Amino acid sequence: MAGMRIGAHVDPAAPLDEAAARGADLVQFFLADPQGWTAPKPRSDAGALAGGQVDVYVHAPYVINVATLNNRIRIPSRKLLLSHAKAAAAVGAKGLIVHGGHVGGGELAKGFDNWRKTFAYAAESGGFPLPVLIENTAGGDNACARRLDALARLWDAVGEYDEVGFCLDTCHAHAGGEELLGLVDRVKAVTGRIDLIHANDSRDPFDSGRDRHDNLGRGQIDPELIVAVVRAAGAPVVVETPGGAEGQGADISFLRDRLSR
Ligand SMILES: [Zn+2]
Repeated sequence: MAGMRIGAHVDPAAPLDEAAARGADLVQFFLADPQGWTAPKPRSDAGALAGGQVDVYVHAPYVINVATLNNRIRIPSRKLLLSHAKAAAAVGAKGLIVHGGHVGGGELAKGFDNWRKTFAYAAESGGFPLPVLIENTAGGDNACARRLDALARLWDAVGEYDEVGFCLDTCHAHAGGEELLGLVDRVKAVTGRIDLIHANDSRDPFDSGRDRHDNLGRGQIDPELIVAVVRAAGAPVVVETPGGAEGQGADISFLRDRLSR
């Protein structure tokens, strides 16, 4: 598995410095406050990010929920997702990661239709300028991408769009109640693709619905199962784990070591 690209979710102030500190092949970061609705600002390092050896991925804010039945969340979510997509393309990102969202007490079928409308809305202005990678979630009331049965219905709604992709998070799968053993095959049977792996351990038990990441081997997931997911997927890898350059650097080294065997 030589040549598999592995990196980390890092502070957005100086992503290339963070990559160097971790020996990372790629970085993922936010372009604006992940808990807020502010639009991303142009970055002075856009040229360096887009033209360098380090691959770039952008994570959309957590507040975005394009599936919700609440107009006052859904409509701004759609707009914010498109503005982040444009800003992510401007830094040469290979993908924009966004959580699958949830509909709360509402009808899940409407959530999938709202996802379809999100891509239709973007298509009105030429489509998303880069792949939008929908990520599985650990929890969420009536979630669109927690379990594979819901994911299959989501893909029925959005799978026709060229810009749609999938990001598989190992912590979220475990805490969301999907066994990691054989998961890559089960996901690919639904989506036909995995574009990115978020390789994270989980502080919480199987099917807990909680989303607290841990360093590989320090949480409740057998680290060899995480390695097996990474190997089977054959996709680029981001660790979204604690401990800064030291903690994430150790997780990257662990994966490289196991994958080289
Ligand atoms: Zn993740």
